[in-house]
Amino acid sequence: MNKNNNTSTHSGHGRVVVIGSLNMDLVVRAARMPHPGETLVGESFAQVPGGKGGNQAVAAARLGAQVSMIGRVGNDANGNQLKQGLEKEGIDCTGVSGDPHLPTGVAVITVDDASQNAIVIVAGSNGALTSEAVAEHEQTIAQAAVVVCQLESPGETVFEAMQIARRNGCVVVLNPAPVTGPLTRAWLETVDFLIPNEIEAAELSGVKVVSPETARAAAWALREQGARHVIVTLGAQGVFVLGADEGREGGRHYPARRVEAIDTTAAGDTFVGGFCAALAAGRASDDAVRFGLAAAALSVTRAGAQPSIPYLHEIESSPG
Ligand code: ADP
Repeated sequence: MNKNNNTSTHSGHGRVVVIGSLNMDLVVRAARMPHPGETLVGESFAQVPGGKGGNQAVAAARLGAQVSMIGRVGNDANGNQLKQGLEKEGIDCTGVSGDPHLPTGVAVITVDDASQNAIVIVAGSNGALTSEAVAEHEQTIAQAAVVVCQLESPGETVFEAMQIARRNGCVVVLNPAPVTGPLTRAWLETVDFLIPNEIEAAELSGVKVVSPETARAAAWALREQGARHVIVTLGAQGVFVLGADEGREGGRHYPARRVEAIDTTAAGDTFVGGFCAALAAGRASDDAVRFGLAAAALSVTRAGAQPSIPYLHEIESSPG
């Protein structure tokens, strides 16, 4: 699992390289979601660093990994703030370039009193992260035990990044979010661990996902399309894992920890970042899943994206 041959004590020596989006999240809290055409008075507003790439990088770093980020921001205040924020977390940002024309990506997030969120993303500079820019950092990628990508960057760039990771012997993790269309066999075969949430799993597999059983069916459909290990995240129901060598009745449901959810923004990113950090530290994948679950459960008890992501010492001391 770990080409750097680390010990299984989660000491954080494995490197995780995150290739993906950096956004400034504009977070509004309101009692409920507005209807189309309606103006609603909200309760609060905050500007918080986010983007699936950035969130997963912060999660992996706080949860014990050495992390390098490859992404693109605008030459603007948001871009500077995002980069400085990552550097404060100890994340290597030599792979984060500045776009001379496009603004830094933003996400407008509404969170309601039921802790549901609705998100609109404008890619900005994330859309200009090219395959060539990623290829320039092949040496960084080659140092990684685990490389993780999402789909908030251009598709051809993500595919190139995963190919580079593969030929350098890294474990390739893809969080296929947001889904913009089907993933080809060539894509799925490049990925070691595919980690969709229930909506993404349903869109990619054509199987409606509402439970661990239906997650198993969706995961199996993805396996038949070429995927290896599939981990479907199920919100408060936890995750369902179908291993690369398991049959259609196989796999395992890992329930989520029971917590009082305040804000589920970045729960999936925390799971993915924690899972990758644990894998990079040499943990077996089922152990990495449990670690990701513990981290994600803590993150939903706090507001915001990156501010809600826990640190390694909090996981080690949390019960259960
Ligand atoms: P996403 O944020 O991508 O939509 P999920 O909603 O599936 O992803 O959440 C990811 C993980 O976060 C879940 O697998 C679970 O471990 C954890 N999680 C999410 N919501 C809750 C909750 N209400 N209670 C406990 N854990 C949760």
